[in-house]
Amino acid sequence: MDLALAIPVFVLGLAFGSFLNVCVYRLPLDLSVVRPGSACPNCKQAIKFYDNIPVLSWIFLGGRCRNCKEPISPRYVAVELLTGALFLLCYAAFGWSLAAVKYCAFAFLLVGLIFTDAETHLLPDKMTLPGLMLGILFSLFVPVNDLATQFLPGVVSVPVSSDISWRLLSLADSVLGAAVGAAFIYGAGAIYLRARGVEGMGFGDVKLMAMVGAFLGMKLTILTIFTASIAGSLFGLWTVLVVWLKRTRRRIERHHEPANEARKHGWASAQIALRRHQMPFGVFLGSMAMLACFMGDRFLRWYWRLM
Ligand SMILES: [Zn+2]
Repeated sequence: MDLALAIPVFVLGLAFGSFLNVCVYRLPLDLSVVRPGSACPNCKQAIKFYDNIPVLSWIFLGGRCRNCKEPISPRYVAVELLTGALFLLCYAAFGWSLAAVKYCAFAFLLVGLIFTDAETHLLPDKMTLPGLMLGILFSLFVPVNDLATQFLPGVVSVPVSSDISWRLLSLADSVLGAAVGAAFIYGAGAIYLRARGVEGMGFGDVKLMAMVGAFLGMKLTILTIFTASIAGSLFGLWTVLVVWLKRTRRRIERHHEPANEARKHGWASAQIALRRHQMPFGVFLGSMAMLACFMGDRFLRWYWRLM
């Protein structure tokens, strides 16, 4: 990694992260991300260019709006730093190449979608659908596939020198990844709806996984769904336990209930809390897709060796 290039790549990531913050705020409200310029969400005062420098402005202003002194969410800095760090990671992993550009674009889309889902429980079409198209387009220039080598060894013999066949296979893996990702989530959502009577996953998640599939191909898409389900379940379990313990303690301390009763009542309210509190599953899908992108192949190779 060349330090003279690493710094500009990081700064570029910060700038893209700054733009993502605008997207996270405006896309769910169906507002233009271009016009008007940035304004304080509280007092609507336009933000001057010198107050709009990623990370630095937030630190200089003490995390508050210059005009109305309303605190600015630390999310703004988190998104900028995360995007910068991911751009740097893409450059470190893929070098000065078109592959690095592809994975920077992927990281950009995922960070935007993860934070939008966490804040608004929405995954805007304006990110997922262009993302899907971009993923498929990139597959023609940066090979997605290990489809031929991983799934059909010996069945398909591709002459490595043949330029057209790797592009076709890569495109096939991308399209197949999108289809498998979307179908999986659609199916899981339908089963969940039948079983629990509430919608656990929406069409936003379906389109998100179509996008992920187009970028990562079939194998890593399945890995993403699998690991996200585990992470989501663990998080749900942890939430229930925390709520249960808190409610039980409160009942014992404040209402002087006997411990047995308090535990029973606490458990009931933890169940209700879980049902009411809809988990933004897109956050888990997006994070695991990011992990799969950098570590998925290594993880699978390690896993196959264990088998
Ligand atoms: Zn303000």
